[in-house]
Amino acid sequence: MKKFENKTVVITGGSGGIGTTTAKQMLDEGAKVLIVDIDKDALQKTADEIKSENLHVFAADVSDEEQVKAYADKAKELFGHVDIFFNNAGIEGKVQPLDEYPMDLFHKVIDINVKGAYYGMRYIWPLMKEKGGSIIITSSVAGMAGTANVLPYVTSKHAIVGMMRSAALEGAPHKIRVNTINPSPVDNRMMRSLEEGFAPGQGDAAKENFEQSIPLQRYATNEEVANLTMFLASDDSQFITGTINPIDGGMTA
Ligand code: NAD
Repeated sequence: MKKFENKTVVITGGSGGIGTTTAKQMLDEGAKVLIVDIDKDALQKTADEIKSENLHVFAADVSDEEQVKAYADKAKELFGHVDIFFNNAGIEGKVQPLDEYPMDLFHKVIDINVKGAYYGMRYIWPLMKEKGGSIIITSSVAGMAGTANVLPYVTSKHAIVGMMRSAALEGAPHKIRVNTINPSPVDNRMMRSLEEGFAPGQGDAAKENFEQSIPLQRYATNEEVANLTMFLASDDSQFITGTINPIDGGMTA
């Protein structure tokens, strides 16, 4: 029997780098997966690429409470119970000193990365409460230490660590486990955007700099991050809750 046979999964940011790769791994292991993303075209592309009767897609903005209720309703209609919630959607904002950072973008980063994570947990929670489940929230190494010029992102990734810890305590009596994953730079779109932000026109040099700050001297891959998520989603981690889980090539050591 496959590891996630008959398991039901909701993934936000599901058509992004980490989300899509995780969805594929879950499907390969027999899960039924609903991916949620704001980007309709990317959702369609992901569905066309994966082609599985066990994959469902739903377009929603995680920072809009009504749209979150709508994707939770969709999960209820499809699955009834949700076993695994990968609360993963997020944006990087931009690279800018704190006294020049656009205020509307500060709000947007907090709305998506913090409020969006809370809305998702809040409305998926009732679908998990009866039988238990696993919630994995995507924080970052930016949720463990500061970085200059990306204050809103760092703030948001720290905030969801606190959210995870409180939710883990509330979830324990219901057998709902809650953990964060905390990747260092991952080799995908988000890092291309940040490299360009830190060193406009010199993205490759910025990448090299980042890589040198990582003891294992490279970025993580989407697959490696998905592997960790799979572990935290599975019964192999059934005694693990309330934890932060760096996947960072030694960066925070
Ligand atoms: P990505 O940009 O490929 O994926 C993010 C996805 O979230 C995209 O598909 C995007 O459309 C979606 N999204 C953005 N705003 C949304 C909204 N309002 N509602 C619904 N969906 C929305 O990048 P990724 O690396 O796959 O990012 C996934 C998570 O990993 C994010 O939370 C990110 O902060 C975190 N993370 C990424 C890195 C990295 O280096 N890429 C490192 C640490 C943590």
